[in-house]
Amino acid sequence: MDAHRGLDLRRWRRALIGAAAGVVLGGIVAGAWGQQAPAPEEEPDMLANVHWLGHASIKITGEKVIYVDPYEIKGGEKADLILITHGHSDHLSPDDIAKIRGEQTIFVLPASTKHNLKGRVELMKPGDEITLAGVKIRAVPAYNLKKKFHPREQGNVGYVFTVGGVTYYHAGDTDLIPEMEGIEADVAFLPVGGTYTMDAAEAGRAAALVKPKVAVPIHWGSIVGSAEDARLFQEKTDCEVRILAAE
Ligand SMILES: [Zn+2]
Repeated sequence: MDAHRGLDLRRWRRALIGAAAGVVLGGIVAGAWGQQAPAPEEEPDMLANVHWLGHASIKITGEKVIYVDPYEIKGGEKADLILITHGHSDHLSPDDIAKIRGEQTIFVLPASTKHNLKGRVELMKPGDEITLAGVKIRAVPAYNLKKKFHPREQGNVGYVFTVGGVTYYHAGDTDLIPEMEGIEADVAFLPVGGTYTMDAAEAGRAAALVKPKVAVPIHWGSIVGSAEDARLFQEKTDCEVRILAAE
């Protein structure tokens, strides 16, 4: 089936439902004219505990300290968990891991990734689930369709994990792949730099599949991808996009 056409149909259907709801809501509001409207409940900030450390590096603080693909970072709190998406040196960086690893740090890596990490290492294949330090983690596929950098057979992953009541999706180095349709997350970290991963337009389509409350562009600002790519992603994406400043 043509995935893009399916997507357009769904968006069209959403728009229709939205329009119908608008008519009904309009009627209700008109009927209740003169009454005090209840104050809208404050939405919690989905990114309250999120820190972008540049490139594809993310740190989540709050209940636990979780890093994903720490690379060229300044240092920081000791990690409860370090999630690594694949073995490329801008994602699995021993020098950076050394800055944040502590006695209790648990490492999560794709089963196929070669590494020299000492300590507790959990290996995952796409589809695997595990709970570590109270954090539910699912490894999801991440691969290129028509590029040679991240073949599917390599078993690289992205991660969907829940902590502090928020579900995060870090896509890893990936193209726009059909498996994204089955991913649900409140916050999605999506690569936008192109060349090795999705570009801004493809990442916009990925966001339409995952439908997060907030999407954050990653894999830009060093190596590949520019601020313009991040801005383009924001322009091409239906859901809220927040471009973070690297910490
Ligand atoms: Zn890579």
